[in-house]
Amino acid sequence: MRFVIFADNYVTGSKENLEKWIGHPRFELIRHDVREPLLIEVDRIYHLVCPASPIFYKYNPVKTIQTNVIGTLSMSGVILLTSTSEVYVDPLIHPQPESYWGNVNPIGVRSCYDEGKASVQHGIEIRIARIFNTYGPRMNIDVGRVGSNFIPQALRGDALTIQKPGTQTRSFCYLSDMVEGDDTGPINIGNPGGFAMVELAETVKELITPSIEIKMVENTPDDPRQRKPDISKAKEVLSWEPMVKLREGLPLMEENFRLKSKLYCNESST
Ligand code: UDP
Repeated sequence: MRFVIFADNYVTGSKENLEKWIGHPRFELIRHDVREPLLIEVDRIYHLVCPASPIFYKYNPVKTIQTNVIGTLSMSGVILLTSTSEVYVDPLIHPQPESYWGNVNPIGVRSCYDEGKASVQHGIEIRIARIFNTYGPRMNIDVGRVGSNFIPQALRGDALTIQKPGTQTRSFCYLSDMVEGDDTGPINIGNPGGFAMVELAETVKELITPSIEIKMVENTPDDPRQRKPDISKAKEVLSWEPMVKLREGLPLMEENFRLKSKLYCNESST
């Protein structure tokens, strides 16, 4: 019989997202910061911790690197670790295979996250899902991620804020494209289709509020210019590839964001 113990310090997560499970006899919730040891007996550990939005992880860089390094040490016995496409940083190889070391600015503002996630990945027998820009319902609204900025902006009738130059690319993977697998070492999990931010803004505009304006704004330092996964390994080892196209996933995210906020109730949908 499976029993799930869920630990979170709610820095970015929320109990609202767990509503469905709270009260379930085989589910337990603990408020816990992963930088401290957690003394409980378990069969498996899925270590999914660390704020992923640049705004959050840059806010306290020391805490970020501690969360990734000390947090992973205190979770010894870990079965699955979620990594990030950020370990490739501003890649010079495109698309990025798992073997690519990345192109990091070690004194840059993003390094606490990039180096923190990369530093724990060697010599340990664990499964590492290297996740590329996930999007979907229940994301925090207005916390700086591009999808969760653009959709509320479009729903409110505010201009979409493309950070310059707008030609930078990301690959967006819908959250239901999850994976089950049994291979150790890092495996890229992401959508092999790359989008420039201008294309993403045009798509959100077309799908949600065609009359919306788009404006260019200043970017943050060290923003990677391109990112796209090589998913040959996921295809070969896990027989996995993403199913949901961006044009299908964005409306599902929009629907959830409308429900989340009364603010959007009077806005018209297309
Ligand atoms: N971005 C943007 N407008 C926004 C927020 C982000 O154009 O309102 C851009 C940002 O400059 C970056 C891309 O979207 O190039 C992805 O940013 P996000 O923070 O979502 O992901 P990450 O940079 O961590 O891959």
